[in-house]
Amino acid sequence: MSAIHHDTEAVHLSETQLVPATEVTAAPTALQTAASASIAPNERIDLLDFTREALEQYFIEQGDKAFRARQIFRWIYKQGVTDIAEMTDLSRAMREHLLEFATISSLEVVRVMDSIDGTKKILFRLKDGAQVEAVLIPIGRRITLCISSQVGCALGCRFCYTATMGPGRNLTIAEYMGQFLGSARLLPEGKTITNVVFMGMGEPLINFQNLIGTLSILTDELGPKLGARRLTVSTAGLCPQILKLGETFPVRLALSLHATTDAQRDQIMPINQRYNLKALFDTLRTFQKLPTQQSLPVTLEYTLIQDINDSPEDAKRLIKLSRSVRSKINLIPYNEHPGAPYKRPSQEAIAEFLRILQVSGVLATERQTRGDDILAACGQLALDGEAKKIRRPLPPR
Ligand code: SAH
Repeated sequence: MSAIHHDTEAVHLSETQLVPATEVTAAPTALQTAASASIAPNERIDLLDFTREALEQYFIEQGDKAFRARQIFRWIYKQGVTDIAEMTDLSRAMREHLLEFATISSLEVVRVMDSIDGTKKILFRLKDGAQVEAVLIPIGRRITLCISSQVGCALGCRFCYTATMGPGRNLTIAEYMGQFLGSARLLPEGKTITNVVFMGMGEPLINFQNLIGTLSILTDELGPKLGARRLTVSTAGLCPQILKLGETFPVRLALSLHATTDAQRDQIMPINQRYNLKALFDTLRTFQKLPTQQSLPVTLEYTLIQDINDSPEDAKRLIKLSRSVRSKINLIPYNEHPGAPYKRPSQEAIAEFLRILQVSGVLATERQTRGDDILAACGQLALDGEAKKIRRPLPPR
């Protein structure tokens, strides 16, 4: 099946697909949950949905002490406890009370696939039956977890497997944290996740509010305590949310660039029709001036696709774009997947493209393809076998 003709289709993203998180979040966010004083009977709150501040606020609203939140945070994120009954520094009465109105969810692990390079792809089932994937990538002493932000993705990038699932829904904070805790449990004794990249399924900046809540938990000193510099959020380029992120958290940003002219980028990434290259790079320059970013570079992700964006002219334009911001380039050889409409360039072509970049003096590396034997590599995350093999047409604007 050839899908290359899709390039000529008019593709437009509808307004509703780009609505920021709050309106499209399926489950209440921690803050909303905490703010709503009354919880319907039988509807237990999920402690994983709460940032520490939200949990403190919640206990205060219940007429209790804020330090309960700190105790609970330690149990969940330091001790790895999944049962409220085991929180032995809470009084028995308190535990019984908690057991009545709260729960600690965990995601069902449907399947773990092990790659020969040590990468593990984990398929989780969510409460509503939807499935998402996370990938554990050990490289040296670092153990990076790549997590999903949405079920499916609305952005419709032409080369991405996840896009074939079509738009789905935002993950809750508990579902983000469920991927983290569930993946950490698969590590050998004594090993922990050292880095988290939001490069799995979906667009994290569309799920903005829950992303921020998750970042807050991951960096909490009573939680996993990951330095913000060990967290990377990857986006296809939602300009207003990039700035909002930069105003909120000192995390690293990766931008899925993939093309060096608007004509090219319009073809493979419909989001470019909304925020073009000029808007994007203006945004990056403003973003880099924010106090959270100081000397941090933005990673420009560039998936090399044969005959689409792999010419020497592309390399030259990429150099120019790269020099216009503080950046490093990460080349990702296109990962083919079932029904993929494009091809990966030859090794020689990839090496030549990289050489042109490096000779110019810009920082550029080739991302080692990890886990591609188990379809865990970039852009290959979707429900194997269940994803539609035919590209879903995008709705008119
Ligand atoms: N929506 C966010 C997060 C996804 S990150 C974003 O676009 O950045 C996944 C990365 O893999 C993105 O850079 C994406 O463009 C890239 N990618 C998608 N499909 C790919 C494929 N088949 N081969 C290589 N990279 C791919």
